[in-house]
Amino acid sequence: MKFFELSEYFQRIEQTTSRLEMADLLHSLFERAGADEMDKIVYLTLGEILPPFRGVEMGVSERLMLEALSKATGIKLKDLETAYKKTGDLGELAFESIRWQGRSLEVSQVYKELLDIAQSRGTLDKVMKLISLLKGLSPLEARYAVRVVIGRLRLGVGEATIIDALSLLSGGRSAKELIERAYNLCSDLGLVAKRLKEGGLSALEHFKIQVGYPIRMALAERVSSVEEIIRRLGRCAVEAKYDGFRLQIHKEGNRVEIYSRNLERMTEMFPEILSAVQKDIRFNSVIFEGEALAVNEETGEFYPFQVTIQRKRKYGVHEYAKEYPLVLFSFDLLYLEGEDFTVKPFIERRRKLEEVIPNSNTLRLSEMIITDSAKEVENFFEDAITRGLEGIMAKRLDAPYTAGSRNFNWIKLKRSYKGALADTIDVVIVGYYYGKGARAKLGIGGVLVAVYDPQTDTFKTVSKVGSGFTEEEWVRLKHMLDEIRLDHRPARVDSILEPDVWVEPRYVITVNADEITRSPLHTAGRTLEEPGYALRFPRAVSFIREDKKAEDANTVEEIIRLYQLQKKVSVE
Ligand code: ATP
Repeated sequence: MKFFELSEYFQRIEQTTSRLEMADLLHSLFERAGADEMDKIVYLTLGEILPPFRGVEMGVSERLMLEALSKATGIKLKDLETAYKKTGDLGELAFESIRWQGRSLEVSQVYKELLDIAQSRGTLDKVMKLISLLKGLSPLEARYAVRVVIGRLRLGVGEATIIDALSLLSGGRSAKELIERAYNLCSDLGLVAKRLKEGGLSALEHFKIQVGYPIRMALAERVSSVEEIIRRLGRCAVEAKYDGFRLQIHKEGNRVEIYSRNLERMTEMFPEILSAVQKDIRFNSVIFEGEALAVNEETGEFYPFQVTIQRKRKYGVHEYAKEYPLVLFSFDLLYLEGEDFTVKPFIERRRKLEEVIPNSNTLRLSEMIITDSAKEVENFFEDAITRGLEGIMAKRLDAPYTAGSRNFNWIKLKRSYKGALADTIDVVIVGYYYGKGARAKLGIGGVLVAVYDPQTDTFKTVSKVGSGFTEEEWVRLKHMLDEIRLDHRPARVDSILEPDVWVEPRYVITVNADEITRSPLHTAGRTLEEPGYALRFPRAVSFIREDKKAEDANTVEEIIRLYQLQKKVSVE
């Protein structure tokens, strides 16, 4: 396929405000694509070059892009800068500045050049390659290539939409299940799309876990009492819940990679864990998970999350590793010596994990008891809280590892929701308001936030949030939101309210609220007959959660469950 044709698709996708039409366009795009360009088209549609777990970044700043554009077109840098200040969109600027027809390149050729730019080290090298790329592109092609390069494609296409379009390609519901399964096992939608196009559904039936491809993480549901845990799980495993970084560790021989909750490659940030895995684990190939946090070696106490989080940095990692070494409390085994463990019952995985993890200084097992007594769970919970832990995680003994899904096989119980307070909620920002009075001078008075609805792959609003941030944070937030502002409602956002500025649903914040109420103004949980759900007196309790993607926000279903939980609590 020619890159021009792909660009035309991008243009149409970008303009639609209907998610169904978006899926149809993608379907038609995938039909026309060849098998060996499927992966590239999927990455580009998502605005990426490779899936995030590969850790490859373009490394091209706006400044660098402007320079390249100036050199390629002969337009003075100053003039480009002025024009850029007006539009705020480098893709549009490239579209308007380029006067040639391009070389009618194939998708694969443009992709190869983009990858080459990402992989070249020096700035000069990058600029030269950018110039040569631009010279080969027509205005429309340049608009999208430039946006990919600076990480601002913003087509509004999510993974779920791509999965829907791929299932249309091979027909039927079972197609969707197989595609999702394969995706959950490798987190690489491009790879899945390519295999599907090459070998049809049967290729996906035989899809296997591979070291170096992170498995999408299993997630926990929440309950508000110890009794409910026992009611749901019966005899179960109960573990301490550590408040640190969830890590998935991949080892093949001496090669080790570490992935975050968000499936980003974080290997360099955890040198002590890396070397412990290399030194202490005597198996050749293994994938396992655990929670890493800083522990005070003198007292054995767990440091608060604020200390652990400092490790998330590019520089000074080794100094921090010395001062606050992390301990990885391992809790699950997903793969060992060629064997897929995700399909085995939890208790079997745990027993094997106990053989794999040597219990050294850095690598330990999560504390665990097995019980069917609510009293014992209660004691374990109280003990965990007293020692500064977050709460407990209960696990169904016979459940497989359900990659990429949240269900009651794992149940979390935290201190905060044993009281009347429901729990914090993660929401995604979909727009903002300019603000009145004192706030008007900041240019932002509040944000419109939404929860995720996985069934329809849309974001449904639950609240406006106008408090909880400091003035400095509001300013920073406005700046970040302006970078992703859109001139129309994003196709995947379902909203009755109309904020002053729409933004691409990307940033997740954690909010607290007094309660959940029914409201005709919001679309979360709204049906033809019933009003939606809304947060009452919401306030932000965190700045942007960088470890979460928009689709990781709480779901509509969870809001409804919290609403029901709260009714129960108030009746009791
Ligand atoms: P989630 O990760 O479920 O979206 P979240 O990031 O808000 O939610 P929590 O609600 O605190 O996190 O609970 C789940 C997280 O708890 C897991 O993702 C994992 O990082 C962490 N965790 C700590 N201890 C354990 C344990 N023993 N078993 C499983 N997970 C644990």
